[in-house]
Amino acid sequence: MQTQERGTLFVFSGPSGVGKGTLNAKLFEEFGEQMAFSVSATTRAPREGEIDGKHYFFISKQEFESRIANNDFLEYAQFAGNCYGTPKSYVMSLLDQGKNVLLEIEVQGAMQVMERMPDCVSIFVLPPSFEELERRLRGRGTETEEKVLKRLETARGELEYAGRYKYRIVNGGDLEAAYQELRSIYLKETNRA
Ligand code: 5GP
Repeated sequence: MQTQERGTLFVFSGPSGVGKGTLNAKLFEEFGEQMAFSVSATTRAPREGEIDGKHYFFISKQEFESRIANNDFLEYAQFAGNCYGTPKSYVMSLLDQGKNVLLEIEVQGAMQVMERMPDCVSIFVLPPSFEELERRLRGRGTETEEKVLKRLETARGELEYAGRYKYRIVNGGDLEAAYQELRSIYLKETNRA
């Protein structure tokens, strides 16, 4: 008999407000037993309802730097003034156990993963248009104008990287249609002969 097959690493990016979290949650709902989400480390403060060890490992800047020095991260990057990193040994051990691992990370980190793990499956979620993204971000109504503008500027920069991903999914408002695209990518990439 064949030994345990190594899992597939999925790298998922897309600007804030594009619905990537919702799409990933749906994927997990359907294929959760074959999958695992990586829990990143970050220096940003927890938001209301976020749990240490579940949503992120919330650590100090000093701790983050010592982890960089120990080569503990598969990738790391700065985003909106905070540091984020993917714990390498955790991801590798999940892949070894045959789990398909999902990283939901920003573009700089995704480029590092694509370089280090060229077999990874990279997916970028796009809004139907920049105007629609702006409408969605404003629709949240939870942020100041300054923050919204900052997020939009970041999103514009991120969208420039979309072409470097293996797959692009447009989330144009029909969540089910976008999910079906993601689902077929997942099935295709995890049932390789
Ligand atoms: P937030 O602070 O809103 O949770 O995340 C901000 C951005 O950082 C999002 O695009 C999120 O996907 C990304 N991010 C979360 N964890 C990591 C990580 O470990 N590495 C990188 N490069 N980006 C991450």
